[in-house]
Amino acid sequence: MERQAFLDSLDSVVGTQYCHTRPYARALYRRDASFFNAEPLAVVAPASVEELIAVVELCREHQVPFAPRGAGTGIAGGAVPVGPVQPPLVVSLARMDRILEIDPVQRIAWVESGVVNTELSVAAAPYGLRYAPDPSSQVACTLGGNVATNAGGAHCLAFGVTSNHVVALELVDAIGEQHLLGSLAPEHNGYDLRGVTVGSEGTFGFVTKVCLRLMPIPPVVTTLLFGFGSVRAAAQTVSDLIASGCLPAALELMDRPAVMLVEEYCHAGYPTDAEAVLLAEFEGLAGEVAASVAETRRTAERHDASFARAADTADERAALWRGRKGIAGAMAKAAPAYYLHDVVVPRSKLADVMDDVIDIVGQKQLSIVNVHHAGDGNLHPLVLFDPGENGVFDRVLAAGEGIVNAALAAGGVLSGEHGIGIEKRDFLCTAMTEADLDVQERIRRAMEPTGLANPHKVLPAPGSCGDAPPSLIPEGAWL
Ligand SMILES: Cc1cc2nc3c(=O)[nH]c(=O)nc-3n(C[C@H](O)[C@H](O)[C@H](O)COP(=O)(O)OP(=O)(O)OC[C@H]3O[C@@H](n4cnc5c(N)ncnc54)[C@H](O)[C@@H]3O)c2cc1C
Repeated sequence: MERQAFLDSLDSVVGTQYCHTRPYARALYRRDASFFNAEPLAVVAPASVEELIAVVELCREHQVPFAPRGAGTGIAGGAVPVGPVQPPLVVSLARMDRILEIDPVQRIAWVESGVVNTELSVAAAPYGLRYAPDPSSQVACTLGGNVATNAGGAHCLAFGVTSNHVVALELVDAIGEQHLLGSLAPEHNGYDLRGVTVGSEGTFGFVTKVCLRLMPIPPVVTTLLFGFGSVRAAAQTVSDLIASGCLPAALELMDRPAVMLVEEYCHAGYPTDAEAVLLAEFEGLAGEVAASVAETRRTAERHDASFARAADTADERAALWRGRKGIAGAMAKAAPAYYLHDVVVPRSKLADVMDDVIDIVGQKQLSIVNVHHAGDGNLHPLVLFDPGENGVFDRVLAAGEGIVNAALAAGGVLSGEHGIGIEKRDFLCTAMTEADLDVQERIRRAMEPTGLANPHKVLPAPGSCGDAPPSLIPEGAWL
């Protein structure tokens, strides 16, 4: 009865069309792009901040946890509605999708969180501006999701990940209060809560509006493709190039299995006889780009690059990027399923960790495809498997654990861009000291005292019921 009253109230806030309670509709929101899945209590899609606040207030009144959702392209299970006690309500912000303002003088844009990443660059283009962070999922993922996961992308090497582009944001917290965090001024009043909220993966509430930095469209862009005789030679080129002081806008590494797949899929023009390719892009003023291109060629030649091609026109460039960005589609031909990892290692350890990763996956009798944002040490091994094979999932998970441990042992971190979600949550106990985890937990409780916002994500599960926020403990539980 209580549940029905809650659902009826939601319905009256957002309208029947945007309050989904039937099994089929709920099933559609069980998953994001990860393997995790769980049935939500219901799904609502508010159209405005006012509606959202009313939804949050109802959740609080009825003690219903909620999972914020953008486009559901997340790979760490962040938008999957898992609940320790009861299934959360999925709250989709996809309908809050207006570009509110583009200010070419200040080079900023105010957007609602449901705006799809690429749409901002399209809208900014007439002003000679663009939004730089470009996750490979950019045609689908939302800017709110990007802020919540602190998303990266191929062009984040020179310009930084999402956090570097968020000037200010509006947060609706789990109490239903609205806060403006950050400002257009170059400094903050008080603590940098904008910074803490970027990457909080929905555990502080909802990012409803964001002020993003826009960058000029560069006058000259040159994209280079190199082939190498070994993955190690390509990885060493990356390390040496950055050490030389040359900073490409993007520097991507793909191994031979990846190249074979994308060539068959979209004929990007990659050399199929190379063991690895590097895609390097430079942008800026003509002289600056020419100097960087020359340095990159010299460095690649020192590592016996076997193939070099420059794309000067927009079409040639688009073809080269189609290969890199099309890897997810190309994978469908390789195996029925794949598990995409995301770890970061110091650039100087790239070649060693890549060898380790290949060994770890091989020991589990699994195949691997490697596609990395190599310039910033961000490894994305894709472990291929057939879910129909008995016991295979245990081997896939064991390989994943090995990859994470290899990255941590090399001084790396758990995620370069996908976030922690459910996937990496329990690894935090290995990656952080107890004291550091405790600070994280205290920050979470300070920002979100109700325990209703995206429970079971990011931080490891409480050690006991006694550690859980009171609001999540069922009535009558004995502690
Ligand atoms: C093919 C493919 C390629 C990808 N490539 C990249 C890549 O290059 N770089 C990269 O960083 N990621 C990549 N991703 C992962 C994913 O696209 C990003 O994590 C993206 O930022 C998620 O956005 P979303 O709108 O889909 O968010 P969702 O998946 O819906 O949610 C992700 C997390 O953010 C929270 N959230 C979403 N919206 C809000 C909001 N408005 N307020 C508060 N919390 C919110 C959710 O609760 C969840 O924890 C890729 C995914 C796929 C499938």
